[in-house]
Amino acid sequence: MNIFVLNAGSSSLKYRLYRMEDHMVLAEGGCERIGIDGRIKYKNHAGFSVREDVSFPDHETAFRKVLAYLTEGDGAVISDLSEINAIGHRVVHGGVRLVHPTRITPDIIREVEDNRDFAPLHSMAQAGVMRLCLKLFPASTFEVVVFDTGFHQTMPPEAYMFGLPYHYYKDYGIRRYGFHGISHSYVSERAAKLLDRDINGIKMVSCHLGNGSSICAIDGGKSVDCSMGFGPVDGIIMGTRSGQVDPTALFYIAKKENLTVDQLSDMISKHSGVLGLSGISSDDRDIEDAMLHGNKQAALTRRIQCYQIRKYIGSYAFIMGRLDVILFTAGLGENSASLREAALQGMENYGVQLDTEKNKATIRGKEGDISKDGSPVRILVIPTNEELKIALDTVKLVENR
Ligand code: ADP
Repeated sequence: MNIFVLNAGSSSLKYRLYRMEDHMVLAEGGCERIGIDGRIKYKNHAGFSVREDVSFPDHETAFRKVLAYLTEGDGAVISDLSEINAIGHRVVHGGVRLVHPTRITPDIIREVEDNRDFAPLHSMAQAGVMRLCLKLFPASTFEVVVFDTGFHQTMPPEAYMFGLPYHYYKDYGIRRYGFHGISHSYVSERAAKLLDRDINGIKMVSCHLGNGSSICAIDGGKSVDCSMGFGPVDGIIMGTRSGQVDPTALFYIAKKENLTVDQLSDMISKHSGVLGLSGISSDDRDIEDAMLHGNKQAALTRRIQCYQIRKYIGSYAFIMGRLDVILFTAGLGENSASLREAALQGMENYGVQLDTEKNKATIRGKEGDISKDGSPVRILVIPTNEELKIALDTVKLVENR
């Protein structure tokens, strides 16, 4: 069975075509700068690889180009679109109602559009690509949507409610939604497999640390709390996002500098976090470099990051009543041994015992246990694979139709 996974952003479109019998990636790539100028990357399993500047005025032009690469020319992996059995779409925000992976119908697309205020940069592009697929693929192609917020719908109200007048929750759905759900659910399932344990009996804290970062408490395979909130800015500091900030500080800045709501939103989303604090870069590799050269602001940024990660792990361990596993995933979580070591310092008495040699020796792209033998809390590095998770969820629906 061939499954096509699509992940649209406001100016991007990532894609991956799987052969599910052996999980082989037949082709993958992405379109960038849609609506600005345009660039496509495409590669297939046989070593064909191309990067081309093309004019992409909209997602449709970009998507048609992807389909052309898949079906025509030297890099083609299928001869006809009917060889794609099903499509799995990633949607960032499912709002209150859209939770489980769902078969796409025009009503579902409308509902994704109705949720646009929750994720203005993504929702319309994602709904647009769903409509395109209904138009361009044969009617027999099964289409599924998987929601990044869906996994967190198991959070109890005490975790997702804010201390605001209740009617904002009732009227506008103001609450914590949590993000990176596809990633957290994938890595937690992988962790249970790696440990050869039933996921129902494990209490985990999953640290998805990338450009965007979130920490999630997972009890028995279910999300019970997440550091990201109503939007993807809450929680710990990220590449350019501030993480949690006392809102009164923001009102104060807005008054001092006469900032509009949009300017304030830009500031906490695009100019804060690691970039804003360090004044150097949003990329952690640059921060590490600067630290090695004695840059104090870089060192402070790293300390803040580690402090916040520790704080979430500790509080989530307490709300779950026990901690069995800490997971690290995404660009930074998978690759930065120094961050993992620094973040977990001082937690030995709580049973979090890192094996520093194993931690340093992790191999990129490989799953590994980096805790000391006998450590009561297992510490795992699990490469995330949101695309594969979407493909697996899609297959489940195809098989149960
Ligand atoms: P996104 O949230 O956009 O999916 P990723 O999960 O790919 O991002 O993470 C990207 C970030 O991961 C980079 O900005 C960088 O900070 C960090 N990163 C990637 N590779 C490494 C590495 N080898 N060492 C340290 N940090 C890394």
